[in-house]
Formats: sequence, C-alpha cells, structure tokens
Amino acid sequence: MKKSSTILLRELPGVDELVRHETLGALLARYSHEVITDAAREVLERLRLNILREEDEKSVKSINKAVCIDDIASMVTESLEAFAGAGLKRVVNGTGTILHTNLGRAQLAEEAARAAFNAALYPVDLEMDITTGVRTERDRAVEALVCALTGAEAACVVNNNAGAVLLALNTLAEGAEVVVSRGELIEIGGSFRLPDIIEKSGCRLKEVGTTNRTHASDYTGAITDSTALLFKAHRSNYEVVGFTAEVGLKELVKIAEEGGVALVEDLGAGALIDMARFGLPKEPVVAQRLEAGVDIVTFSGDKLLGGPQSGIIAGKRKLVDKIRNNPLKRALRCDKMTIAALEATLKLYLNGEELCNRLPVLRLMTRSVEEITGNANRAALLLRERLGPGYTVEVKELGTDGADGSVAGSVVGGGSLPGYGLPTAVIVVTHEELSAQSIYNRFLASSTPILGRINKELFLLDMRTVEEPEEVLP
Ligand SMILES: *Cc1c(COP(=O)(O)O)cnc(C)c1O
Repeated sequence: MKKSSTILLRELPGVDELVRHETLGALLARYSHEVITDAAREVLERLRLNILREEDEKSVKSINKAVCIDDIASMVTESLEAFAGAGLKRVVNGTGTILHTNLGRAQLAEEAARAAFNAALYPVDLEMDITTGVRTERDRAVEALVCALTGAEAACVVNNNAGAVLLALNTLAEGAEVVVSRGELIEIGGSFRLPDIIEKSGCRLKEVGTTNRTHASDYTGAITDSTALLFKAHRSNYEVVGFTAEVGLKELVKIAEEGGVALVEDLGAGALIDMARFGLPKEPVVAQRLEAGVDIVTFSGDKLLGGPQSGIIAGKRKLVDKIRNNPLKRALRCDKMTIAALEATLKLYLNGEELCNRLPVLRLMTRSVEEITGNANRAALLLRERLGPGYTVEVKELGTDGADGSVAGSVVGGGSLPGYGLPTAVIVVTHEELSAQSIYNRFLASSTPILGRINKELFLLDMRTVEEPEEVLP
C-alpha cells in the first residue's frame, strides 16, 4: 500500500539521529562533525522535496525504501564521497592533441614539476637576494634565462599570454591607437579576442587592410600622431590561403621605425627553437623575431615552450622596464610555483641534446610512427583481453592528411602549428552493437578517465599522446 506523503515525512529521521548513525560515525575519522551534519541535512532536505513531489508510483517506491535510516546514512556517505572526490583528476589523453587546453596544455618536465613541488613545500628566495638580503624581482632568473635563450635585452613574466598582451598594450599604448591588420584580428579559444583585449587595455583599435590582403601602404597610411604602436598577431589557429598578401616582418619593422612607433608581436606559441629541426613546419622563433627588430614579443609558457601556464614578455630593455613598472603587473604576476617550474623548464633548453627527451611536449611531437605503432600494438593486445566479447580492436597508422584533405593525424593544438597533422597510430575500437559514443563513454567512465576521439563514427585512441600501453585499459 502507498503511504501518504505526511506519513513518509514523519518517518524521516532527524538530523541529529542520522548523524549518530554508526555509518556516519565511522566517517568522523575523515570529515569534521560540521561537514557530516551539513551533508546529512542536505540529503534529508532532498528526500523531503522528493516526497512532496511524489509524482509517480516509482519514485514513491524508491522513497519508501529510502525512509530507512540505514539507507539514508548510505546516501549521506555517497554524497560526501562524491563531494570529496570531485575536482581535478588525472586523465589519459588519447585524443592525439598534444597541447590540449581542456586537459591543461603542456605536461611539465619532471624537473619542472619537482621545482614547483619544492617551491610549494619550502620557503624560497622568491624576492630576495640571499647573498645580500636585499629585496629583488621575482622574475630575475626567468629574465636571465629568456634573455640568454632569445637574445632579448630584457624580459618579464605574467600569468598567461593574454595577460602579457593586455599588460604590454596598456603600458605602451593606453589612450592611443594600435594598428592591426584585419587579417590578424584573431580569436583564440576561451574568449581571447584581440579587439576586446585592445579595448580593455585602454587603447583604440585601428584596423588596416582587408581580411586576406594587407599592404605596406595600409600601415604607413594609418600612422598618425595618435598612433602608439603597430601590433602583429600570430595566426595561431587558422590560415589565410588563396589570394593573400601580408607585409613581411623586415618591412614592418622599417615602417614602425620610420613612423616612430613601437612594433609589438603576439607570437602565441612562442617556439624557443626552430621546429623545422625536427621536420615540423616552421613556427616563428622568438629569437628570430627579436633579431629582425620587433620591439616586444609576447608568448605563452605552456604551449610549445612546454612549461607552466604563464605569459612571457621579451624585447627592448626600455620598453620592458616600463611594462614591469606598470601597477597592473602586480595584478598579473606569477606565483612561486609557476616561477620555479618555468625556470626549470627554461634551463632544459640550455642542453639541446637532452631537450627532446626531457620536455614532454617535444618528446610527444617528435615520437616516430614506428615507436607509436609498437606501443599501439601492445596496447591492442591488452585491450582485446580486457574488453571482452563483441569488441574488435585494430591498429591503424594515420598519415598527415586525411583522404578528404582534412587533418587526420595527431595535432599539436594549443594554437601551435595550425592545420598541421602529425602522422600517428590509432587504436580503433568497435563493437557489434554499441555505438562509437557508447564506447567513448565506457573509456571515459574508467577510474582514470581515458579520453579518446570519435572520427567518422569510429572510436579512436590516438597513441601519440599516450606513452604507456597499459594506460588505455578501461
Ligand atoms: C594562445 C594564444 C593567446 C593566449 O595565450 P594564453 O597563454 O592562453 O593566455 C594569445 N595570442 C595568441 C596568438 C595565442 O596563440
């Protein structure tokens, strides 16, 4: 017989009685009394609402069952465990995207992680010269390393590249005009839109040229007394092809010089070394841009550089000093763990030989297809055993371009090497009945979630971004 909601409500235990239940008593070793009481109160409230709603037979049945103090105590435990288990967790990246922004971009080198760990646990000489006891800049070691690696006269570091662009523009062009080619008014994922950043920096955007073609005369014609700087943005996540024209860097440097304005470039990924060395397409190299005469460059620390989230500003000393002294710098500064990790990452670049092994971003980018295929085959063997009947597991090598011309292989991601696919090996998992989406969900529900990708109705695990075969076992 169906109990009325009034009776059910009366049968619910009180908060105090529930908290005294032995199941919850056992939780006291891990959670404070207040936390357990709050969780108990929430569960009771939820039950009360359900009883009042009491829409159909089924929910009443489940409520009937729930109005037993043992079950309610279990619900409180579950709710607490879910709450305590939430938050960042490790994920296996089977997407093939090396710099996956949603997965935290660059995996740090062990050296960098250890440096951050130590800086987190112990006091460090963040803003003090230990030999003299005098207060110093927290950026000083990063600056020395960036200067050594890029030939910059000076450098400083902030929270991310969006912050670096904001700070550079606000310092050098507040209240004045910033000239940008219409072909470079970029939007990067996560709501970084150059026109908005320019406006928020207190500058006025002066667009020149057209989407596909911008000429030297467009720039020279735009420079007036109210112009503070020419701004160049790297097209990180798209290409302009076909009938196009852009002004070469040498020429742009000359135009800025003759116009008496600064030239600032947002490089985005900011490669410290030439990617062509590894048979990868050319990505602007910081040192070359500075050498060519760009006054200030900005770039991310967690893209191709392979370090922690940060934004580096490098270039002419006079301008960097001004940027450093902007009060906004204080609002955008990095914490000690980021600085420690960035220093350790930059130090790896001092040893070019070891760099590719030590720096995960470069290691993943430069893995050979043979190595990836070998790993994929080992993983496929294990998967066939683990997945059980109905599943088919195959290894397939993917070239740079798909048959339809789209990128088929892995991608670098994070706004680096746009439109370029790295050859790779993927594990294709299919099932007699289950859809690619169901298989995707099964892998994702694994205790360490395994994130694959679905391509043309097939579930794939791209093994370029997985280093140990065992990792892809759900
Ligand atoms: C990625 C990128 C940014 C944003 O950098 P964050 O470090 O993510 O803030 C800005 N500009 C360009 C050209 C980029 O590629």
